[in-house]
Amino acid sequence: MEMSLKYIVLDLDGTLVHHTNFHPHKSNESYEHIILSYKDKSGCLHFRPHYKELLIWCHDVMRYEFIVFSSASEDYVTRVTDLLFKDLNFYPVHVFDSRHINIITYNKQLNWIIELLGVTKNDIVCIDDSKDNYQDHKDRILLIEEWDGYSQDNELITIRNLLLI
Ligand SMILES: [Mg+2]
Repeated sequence: MEMSLKYIVLDLDGTLVHHTNFHPHKSNESYEHIILSYKDKSGCLHFRPHYKELLIWCHDVMRYEFIVFSSASEDYVTRVTDLLFKDLNFYPVHVFDSRHINIITYNKQLNWIIELLGVTKNDIVCIDDSKDNYQDHKDRILLIEEWDGYSQDNELITIRNLLLI
């Protein structure tokens, strides 16, 4: 029997990363971060502790296919996704950004993904720091505490236990 694919939809800001428009102070440089340059400004992207372990675990243990879904711009979402997955031998099957948000009815993003992939909602789980986008499918979202970019936390380790349920 063919196994159906399972998908994990990942939010970026507040969930896996935190972006600021200024460079970190010396005292914060212990956190993994990178300076991103834009046309007329630069910003700093902070990576949430344990993000890479979560991605590897989702891939190797849970056998998930990844989907990135962010309301940020195409340029930003592509760059952040590339950075998150850069040392890994897998990459999201879909990366959705502000262009897609614009064509989706408000609060209906999971319905849209389900239809696009031709799967049932039970084949999908989402990790997000906001439940606004998933009003219709609250049972498919694992709500994670928003990360501020500075504090050390273990949310991305804790969430693994919820994925096993
Ligand atoms: Mg978010």
